[in-house]
Amino acid sequence: MAARTLGSTGTRPPAARLHIDWTRCDGRGLCTELLPRELTRDRWGYPLATKSASRSDVGIGESSLDAANDAVALCPKLALTLIPTGKTG
Ligand code: SF4
Repeated sequence: MAARTLGSTGTRPPAARLHIDWTRCDGRGLCTELLPRELTRDRWGYPLATKSASRSDVGIGESSLDAANDAVALCPKLALTLIPTGKTG
């Protein structure tokens, strides 16, 4: 049986949750370029989850963790927070 790569759409839960602070975001779209599988842009340029109904919290699969960390570090408005799932405290 072939191995299967699972991301935020697989059967495993996301490795992390990307939180977008809308009070900071200015809709320039850098994060959408770094995470094209998870984010697209709405008509005003603001990030929009491709696979989730939530606009504030986006599931991030294991294979996208590096890109998500880059998005957090490079967001010019410090609007992104990456929160590991399944961990407390
Ligand atoms: S990179 Fe930051 S400021 Fe730019 S669209 Fe994404 S969340 Fe908003």
